[in-house]
Amino acid sequence: MKRQPFIAGNWKMNKTGQQAVETATQLARLCSDIKDIEVMIAPANLSLALVAQAIQGTTVKLGAQNLYFEQQGAFTGEVSADMVKAAGAEYILVGHSERRQYFGETDEAVNRKIAAALGVGLKPVLCIGETLAQRKQENTYLILDKQVSDGLKGFGLEELSNLVLAYEPVWAIGTGQTAGIEQVEAVHQHLRSLLESLFSKDLADRTRIVYGGSVKPENVKKIMAIEDVDGALVGGASLDADKFINIIKYNG
Ligand code: PEP
Repeated sequence: MKRQPFIAGNWKMNKTGQQAVETATQLARLCSDIKDIEVMIAPANLSLALVAQAIQGTTVKLGAQNLYFEQQGAFTGEVSADMVKAAGAEYILVGHSERRQYFGETDEAVNRKIAAALGVGLKPVLCIGETLAQRKQENTYLILDKQVSDGLKGFGLEELSNLVLAYEPVWAIGTGQTAGIEQVEAVHQHLRSLLESLFSKDLADRTRIVYGGSVKPENVKKIMAIEDVDGALVGGASLDADKFINIIKYNG
């Protein structure tokens, strides 16, 4: 099955609103001739509405990096799915390893966040990945299987029709170290089979499974050539529009 490549930039806690607008505007201009690749950027929540306005009517889509699963109320400092959606986001990253590592996000919280996102029509990008210690202990699949099955527990085929799965080995994020081609290939193949066994062959065939972890203009072509890799989630190299466009246009 042909899946449209999905290349997303996670800007993390970088850029003021004005800086985000400048980069997004520049990127949208550079992406004006992109047809077959879906491009998404995820600025900080505070910049969502500004960036939404800046990229309106362009080929670049908007995503958020995080939300809280409650609908509203006394949760100081948090934003709800509704707010993220109203600010103009179409996608939402859930379970990024930095959220898991620094903010104690559990698979249960991830599951509730996805439920909240689906409730308002946001498309979830579920991020999963093993740490170096887990890989060394040969627990990679055990960890990934748990992150996927617990994260997606209770959802139906229809609800997951827009799911994107992002495999991001924790040891490759922001380290300059990318997973080997065979490692990525094996994990992505495994994840597609897992989706088939948990849900259906059709869902597994349709779901885009993207790779993240030090993707750069220099290595993107090799990564995108791997079977079952349907795109990339890019951190550091997405902050600069000129650099990011060289990843997006990996095919020349
Ligand atoms: C990420 O944060 O999702 C990521 C992959 O970061 P980097 O590209 O900087 O490794």
